[in-house]
Amino acid sequence: MTNPVALPNEVDLLIVTQPENVRYLSGFTAPEDGLVVLAREGATLFTDARYAEQAPAESRVPVEIVNPREGYGFLRSHLKGARVGYDARHMPCSRKDRIEAEANVALLPTEGVVERARTIKGPDEFERIVRAARIADEGYAHLLAQIKPGARELDLALELEFWMRKNGAERAAFDFIVASGPRGALPHGVASTKRLERGELVTLDFGAVVDGYHSDMTRAVALGTVDTEMQRIFEVAEAALEAALEAAGPGVAARQLDAVARGVIERAGYGSRFVHSLGHGVGLEVHEAPFLNARSDEVLEPGMVITLEPGIYLPGRGGVRLEELVHVTPTGIEVLSRAPRGWLEV
Ligand code: ZN
Ligand code: ZN
Repeated sequence: MTNPVALPNEVDLLIVTQPENVRYLSGFTAPEDGLVVLAREGATLFTDARYAEQAPAESRVPVEIVNPREGYGFLRSHLKGARVGYDARHMPCSRKDRIEAEANVALLPTEGVVERARTIKGPDEFERIVRAARIADEGYAHLLAQIKPGARELDLALELEFWMRKNGAERAAFDFIVASGPRGALPHGVASTKRLERGELVTLDFGAVVDGYHSDMTRAVALGTVDTEMQRIFEVAEAALEAALEAAGPGVAARQLDAVARGVIERAGYGSRFVHSLGHGVGLEVHEAPFLNARSDEVLEPGMVITLEPGIYLPGRGGVRLEELVHVTPTGIEVLSRAPRGWLEV
């Protein structure tokens, strides 16, 4: 069950091609090969003969099988006389030009129409995210015994993905980040062949996918005793996360929440080392609206699922990030990532 999409007043129909938006509107699990025409009364999914069985079986909306070799001419009769929008953020100019020429239509730009509806999760979307979060928690618990000096980052990432997929995940939410020692200074330090060493702090950022829906969380582990500044930045990141968790809830502006976490890190003297935004929405994409940063105009609403992930990165030395997956409820928040996040020495 998904939320109704409010079409902007200036259009009668919207052509949707961005895969996650197509999947959201139809339920079709090969959305990169689909196109949806969305009207106020409902939607129609267009795809090709490869999906003649699969698409009608999966789709919640009527399906038409079209021949891609005939271009976009099939849209003519559907769009005739209507004011038709397209997604200016996602549709390349070349494709827009082809649709306009072949379907004989002038397309009007829109932005973020379906993405806005996607920020509020329906009950079965939420349930899938929770299942993905559980698998990630359990995978992390399984992995902990293997996080020790000598282990390669890559092997830890592979083991975690393997475990998750054997235990209900359809795939990894993204290329897992396992960043140990100096590599911890890379906010996107995808697992490498580096081996973990005693005295290092390791950041692990990972998630599972269940029925198209993602989870996302980050934990940090100390390999024995690490230097005092690494301990210090862990404590500051955790304090920033706790302040954000405390401040989060319905009606709170995303930029305000970003400012709360950033303030904690700035007052500790590491403001310039928190080089990314506080968090993002999670759903059919691992990074989706709402985006929680200093320029955001978004306000948290019940039903949103977001991350809060302050981090501190010291170039050449190391870094730390802690990330929780959070559900905004009518009265506050519920933390969906359950694996313990406190200081952990192995
Ligand atoms: Zn993450
Ligand atoms: Zn994240």
